[in-house]
Amino acid sequence: MTDGAPSLPEDVEAVREALVEWYERDHRDFPWRRTDDPYEILVSEVMSQQTQLDRVVDAWEAFLDRWPTADALAAADRADVVRFWTDHRLGYNNRAKYLHEAARQIRDDYDGDFPRTPAGLSELMGVGPYTANAVASFAFDAGDAVVDTNVKRVLHRAFGVEDSDDAFERAAGELMPEGESRVWNNAIMELGGVACGKKPRCDEEGCPWRRWCHAYETGDFTAPDVPTQPSFDGSRRQFRGRIVRTLGEHDELALDELGPRIRVDYAPDGEYGREWLRELLSDLADDGLVDVNVRDGETVARLR
Ligand code: SF4
Repeated sequence: MTDGAPSLPEDVEAVREALVEWYERDHRDFPWRRTDDPYEILVSEVMSQQTQLDRVVDAWEAFLDRWPTADALAAADRADVVRFWTDHRLGYNNRAKYLHEAARQIRDDYDGDFPRTPAGLSELMGVGPYTANAVASFAFDAGDAVVDTNVKRVLHRAFGVEDSDDAFERAAGELMPEGESRVWNNAIMELGGVACGKKPRCDEEGCPWRRWCHAYETGDFTAPDVPTQPSFDGSRRQFRGRIVRTLGEHDELALDELGPRIRVDYAPDGEYGREWLRELLSDLADDGLVDVNVRDGETVARLR
């Protein structure tokens, strides 16, 4: 990685599929994830800039009840919009003013139709590059890969992407399946928000990238916004990570072949021996990552 180039796994397709499948199986169900209306999405994005997502839900629904379309908002009195913002404790009032102004632009300058690209959307009042890209992705499936703090943390931990904006942009862009910004950006942000938070929950959330993840293998979970090792018991996780990584490099391994590759002090009948290894493998099997079979009296493990 001397020139800062990301070191993504060779099988990028498998990495993508694993994440999208994980996301689609179960994700937090925010109401704005069920719409592709650009106005509704813009309102949710502007509200979420300052406020926790769980609190945004009520405010978002109330706002849309009152001003259901960009046209309705454009016709509103600005003081009412600002008052709504203050009453719902949504942060800087300027955001309410900008949102109102953006609705007027849509009505007056765009004949009521939202621009569809990040560049077009950033012409709207108060819409910065991040919001423009989010609206292009979630409303029109026409965005670029999102790179925010959550995404940086995931990319740094999983693939060792170095801490530079340029490297993050490139890695994120390379990973995103072309033309699928809606599902992809939702999925990777969900991964960063739910599984790969500052205190990672790799196993608890069934992270779909464990088999490739550098941090999961090495036990080093520091990240650009997590400068010191988060406080949690990482040692078991670290060995699980090594097992997954080692099995990824072999077709199938018997216990005594796997053990010494996982820890140097492996001794079949010792404290860190077959029993210890069986227990880890059984956890990984419960998580659906590994298959464990007994063949000719010998326990063998392989990645599922
Ligand atoms: S395995 Fe853990 S550290 Fe790696 S990407 Fe998943 S949640 Fe993050």
